Amino acid sequence: MSPTQVETTLSPPRLSRSAGGRVQRLGRLLRAIACLVAVTACTGAVIWPLLPAPTRRGAADWVRSHAGLLSSRAYYAVSHRGWRSVQLGNWEVLLPPAGGVLHDHRGEPQVAWPHMEQGLWLSQAADEALAKLPAASGLSEAQIGQAGELPRLILYASQRQLAAIWRWPEAHATTGIYWGGSVGVVAPVTWLPVMHPEHPGLAALGTQGSSVLQSTLVHELTHWAHDRVSLGRMPRWLSEGIAVRAEERTFGHEAPAELIAARAIRAGQASIAEFAMWFGATDASRSQELQAYALARSVVCYLDHSALDGWDERILARLAAGDRFEQAFVAASGMTLAEVEKQWLRWLDVSAKPQ
Ligand SMILES: [Zn+2]
Repeated sequence: MSPTQVETTLSPPRLSRSAGGRVQRLGRLLRAIACLVAVTACTGAVIWPLLPAPTRRGAADWVRSHAGLLSSRAYYAVSHRGWRSVQLGNWEVLLPPAGGVLHDHRGEPQVAWPHMEQGLWLSQAADEALAKLPAASGLSEAQIGQAGELPRLILYASQRQLAAIWRWPEAHATTGIYWGGSVGVVAPVTWLPVMHPEHPGLAALGTQGSSVLQSTLVHELTHWAHDRVSLGRMPRWLSEGIAVRAEERTFGHEAPAELIAARAIRAGQASIAEFAMWFGATDASRSQELQAYALARSVVCYLDHSALDGWDERILARLAAGDRFEQAFVAASGMTLAEVEKQWLRWLDVSAKPQ
């Protein structure tokens, strides 16, 4: 390479005056942002150790929960680009891009069920699920009120679409999901029997279909209330156990303790720390995930039988007040998590084999 070529390569590009001015302004702006970030980081590093421990913990929780919320909002924004947001009654509903043909639960194409109509079903069912939430979730109306802004509802056109967006193997496909302030549900017509296709609306699902849709929504809304009120500090395993119980209550009755214990034993024993890792983990097998739900449900059943009534409501209240989970658990149930684990395993053996 000749010196001339080098010089040509290294010389700055020729810019028009206005373009050069824009570049300079942009440079100044970037430098100002970098300074601001550096000053904030330095100030934070100095102030952090001076804060009393509860404030530090509260600040860390706030950052963790809001960072999670912001990153999931950002993920939704990217993965749901082209989706349409509509306000249907009390709910903001995100509808998938138009053009796809919905298939019913038998795999028959159902072009007569447009996304908007599915969104309407969803918003109506969500109203009913919200009304059932206090009785089903075990939380007080005041606690549910503390959750504040209602979650956004996301209508997925199919289980395959939901799995693809969340990068799950299709075998992990589900019909509902809660994450970061949003509740996602797969279009009801694709997985629930439709009883009266000539009448649009929730009635078209029939009594059973409508109850199943509501129980799915009650499950996800229970996660929403836990997440919002505890600032993201309710452990997933406990929230799942309570959400499965809420589903049962939506149908009017909880499963009997012997059945819950028998299911847990059949699923296979695992420690709480172990099965807590299997929810939604892409490296967990489908059977491990189902095992985790059965075990979490049985821990909640054990607590219902051994702790004072309202233990679940009290845990959330303590978490909302800033307690760590272990503290909140002892204060609400009167037992440590280790004691509960030991007693729960003993209880499983006894309850699954009634005399
Ligand atoms: Zn769940």
